[in-house]
Amino acid sequence: MRYPKLRELKEAIKALLKGPYTSKFPCQPHQPYERFRGRPYFHEEDCTGCAACAQVCPAKAIEVEDIIQDGQAKRKLTIHWDICIFCGQCQANCLTGKGIILSQEFAFATTENRQQLKDGVEKDFVLCDCCAQPIVPSAQYTWVAKRLGPLTFSNASLMLFYLKSFGLALKENISRRKEGDFLRSDRIKILCPRCRRQAVIKS
Ligand code: SF4
Ligand code: SF4
Repeated sequence: MRYPKLRELKEAIKALLKGPYTSKFPCQPHQPYERFRGRPYFHEEDCTGCAACAQVCPAKAIEVEDIIQDGQAKRKLTIHWDICIFCGQCQANCLTGKGIILSQEFAFATTENRQQLKDGVEKDFVLCDCCAQPIVPSAQYTWVAKRLGPLTFSNASLMLFYLKSFGLALKENISRRKEGDFLRSDRIKILCPRCRRQAVIKS
């Protein structure tokens, strides 16, 4: 006959004194452990719209839509909880570290349409002053400018965007240019990389 090991005996005695390890959920509420990974939520204030979270998501649970309509451009990020595997990669690789955070929520079984199981955030884009194409979400530009500090003034587009956000530079109307039509003055505008290259070559 094999005797139980001391370690197993110790665990058995502990379980007898402390009660069962399992919880009585769903009859009684369950409080998960502190580091439990549950349903992720976007945090509007801290999300820049960079979409890094979507790129690292192994389950492709984060959808990115760039919508251009009536001279406006928006980036829409949607997390589909029915596809999410709660790995935490989005939070771990978030640009700001706080744009998407996993909560401790784990009970979201539903009889409703699974398409309802989602959370989303929308961010405005900065548009190129010469071709009106989206360059980068404005929240991401602001975040980069704050990180760079005085170095922001080494990049014309970033500098102008930052000054405009404080009302210290005039807002340009978009003046569309064809290739070869760029002027020297276009260099002092917010430009996408393609238009910046054309403006620099022209001048
Ligand atoms: S927790 Fe994992 S699967 Fe869920 S959205 Fe984040 S990266 Fe994707
Ligand atoms: S800031 Fe974070 S949450 Fe927002 S899009 Fe970028 S990686 Fe995703």
